[in-house]
Amino acid sequence: MAQGTVWIDRERCKGCGLCPTVCPKDALEMDLISLNAKGYHPAVLINEAACTGCAICAVICPDVCITVAREAKPARV
Ligand code: SF4
Ligand code: SF4
Repeated sequence: MAQGTVWIDRERCKGCGLCPTVCPKDALEMDLISLNAKGYHPAVLINEAACTGCAICAVICPDVCITVAREAKPARV
């Protein structure tokens, strides 16, 4: 399984809450403590170790706020 990570543009996020609902690894959550400049609670990556870089979150985001990076694990020797 590949290891991945996501970068969320918190200032563009409108706090719709979609991305945490589709992450198969429960790696995303809404930040219910802080607000962005628009006054929304943005999504945050809470478990980078679980992220596979599947990019489902990036596809579902209506405002294209999520950038995904994925790195394949080295093959066994
Ligand atoms: S890339 Fe996949 S595993 Fe990683 S946070 Fe997004 S939906 Fe979850
Ligand atoms: S889907 Fe996009 S706009 Fe909605 S909470 Fe996630 S990052 Fe923010």
